[in-house]
Amino acid sequence: MKPCPFCHVSPRDHLVAESGMVKVIFSNPRLVKGHLLIIPKRHVEQPWELTGQEQIEVLAFITKFQRRLSQTIGTGCDVRQNYRPFLIQGKLKVDHVHYHLLPRKLEDELYTKCQIYEKEIFINLCDSEIAEVEQQLKGI
Ligand SMILES: [Zn+2]
Repeated sequence: MKPCPFCHVSPRDHLVAESGMVKVIFSNPRLVKGHLLIIPKRHVEQPWELTGQEQIEVLAFITKFQRRLSQTIGTGCDVRQNYRPFLIQGKLKVDHVHYHLLPRKLEDELYTKCQIYEKEIFINLCDSEIAEVEQQLKGI
């Protein structure tokens, strides 16, 4: 089994910033210019396994870099965390929890090649679906 790429960050990963428990690196490969990853230093595979302090440090970096990326490379910035244990780890999927920051602009490449098609997927919410999902979320 290959070592976790986020536990063994190399100098080629270009560390952007770090705190006691979290690091920020360039995403490689990347979706857009300025695509950054916020990664807890401890190997964690489920976001809800992060300690309170790790959550605080992750959110602090997300907030700080989202603001900067929105004011420089983009005019906006997406924040994403993909939890997809049903996919096998590979070049585009790493099990170690990480958060993506994607600088965005009006009708940028990510929009024109992908997200423009999301418009076709949106449907109006109905009462039965609300009731079903509320039932599944009870007790949280
Ligand atoms: Zn790891």
